[in-house]
Amino acid sequence: MIKENLDLVRERIQEAVKKAKRASDKVLLIAVSKTKPVSMLMEAYDQGCRDFGENKVQELVNKYETMPKDIRWHMIGHLQRNKVKYIVDKVVLIHSVDSLKLAEEISREAVKKQVQVSILIEVNIAGEDSKFGVSGKETEQLIRQVAPLPGIHIEGLMTIAPYVENPEENRQYFAQLKQLSVDITRKNIDNVNMNVLSMGMTGDYTVAIEEGATCVRVGTGIFGERQYPV
Ligand SMILES: *Cc1c(COP(=O)(O)O)cnc(C)c1O
Repeated sequence: MIKENLDLVRERIQEAVKKAKRASDKVLLIAVSKTKPVSMLMEAYDQGCRDFGENKVQELVNKYETMPKDIRWHMIGHLQRNKVKYIVDKVVLIHSVDSLKLAEEISREAVKKQVQVSILIEVNIAGEDSKFGVSGKETEQLIRQVAPLPGIHIEGLMTIAPYVENPEENRQYFAQLKQLSVDITRKNIDNVNMNVLSMGMTGDYTVAIEEGATCVRVGTGIFGERQYPV
């Protein structure tokens, strides 16, 4: 089942890239494996997946320890400051940085462990009460505060769009995040890249790609429905 799902997701990604006539055809597929057992992740691994996304520190660390070392782990969930130390040397990208305090903690741990940590700023672009992330308005200010910190590098922006039946409803938000990244690029802030736009999940990743996503996070579409509570 995972092979068929992956084939389909990869095909739809390519179609969306073509449809959008983008300058770059590079879209990174992150297999969001939260709550799923290692056996299922290994099926995806055997089909060529090397980028996996998790939203809980303990689960990420457990899987990191048991799975092949060429996997690139992405922290995509809300991160508590007291847990930063467990993952800074294990993840390729932290997608969910939304406060200066969290960034400072990541920087401190990065310096201590002598690693360089890549991060994205999480933006609550639709302004939903239930979501983490800074507002579009606050984004530049946070970036200017985080950019000078040692051991930490801003690589772009991430958003979790609203849950909607019709993915077209989220097109506006993806377009807004893209525009925000273009605006920030123009400011030429030292130590800040806007190369990564992490947006789009199972329900809306093709629309996100059409609007410029460089990185989509797909869980259900690869591994099937999750059992809750997570
Ligand atoms: C769970 C999760 C996803 C994947 O969601 P699906 O709808 O299953 O594709 C993507 N991004 C984040 C931040 C998540 O927590």
